[in-house]
Parts: sequence; C-alpha cells; structure tokens
Amino acid sequence: MLMPTLVEETERAAPGPSVVCSREPSQDTCPVCGTPLRGRQRSACSDRCRAALSRRRRIPVRAQDLRDLRVLVRETVDRVSEIKADATVMLDRLWEAKTALEGYLGG
Ligand SMILES: [Zn+2]
Repeated sequence: MLMPTLVEETERAAPGPSVVCSREPSQDTCPVCGTPLRGRQRSACSDRCRAALSRRRRIPVRAQDLRDLRVLVRETVDRVSEIKADATVMLDRLWEAKTALEGYLGG
C-alpha cells in the first residue's frame, strides 16, 4: 500500500517528459507557428519558420524609394553648401564692419 505511492512520487520527481514540459514557458514557443521550442532551438522551431521570421524582420525598400531618397540627399547637400557659402560671405562682411568700427572708434 505504501509502495505504489512511493513509486508514483519517484516517477514524478524523476527527470523526464514532465521536466521538459516545465521548461516551456510561453516565450519559448516558435514566434511563427507557436510550436514549443525544444533543446537548442532558440529563435524558431524549424528552418522553414526561421526563414519566415527573417523575411518578416527584413524591411522591404523599393529601389524607387532609394532613388527618391538620393535626390533628397543631393538637394540637401546643395542647399547646405549654399547656406555655408552665404554664411562665409556674411562673416567676411561682419569682420569688415567690425574692423572699420574699431578703426573709427579706436579699439
Ligand atoms: Zn515554427
């Protein structure tokens, strides 16, 4: 009468399928199909799901969008170059005005 109880408890405590089940919290499931990950599986349960996951992570960018972006970058480079040239001219004039005022007022 005592023996069956002991055997039952030993079985429950023994490492086996129940231990594997207890190591499957919700975040250890395949993010694609929901299958619990086993052993050294980390990101997905299979090559198929891993490929689907990497496709999902890749952000699709159209070639035309990249060309539009290149046009914007080139225009911005041109505009900033103009602003820089304007600022250089303004700075030259400010230095001239400052020098003239200092010469007139003495120091
Ligand atoms: Zn999967």
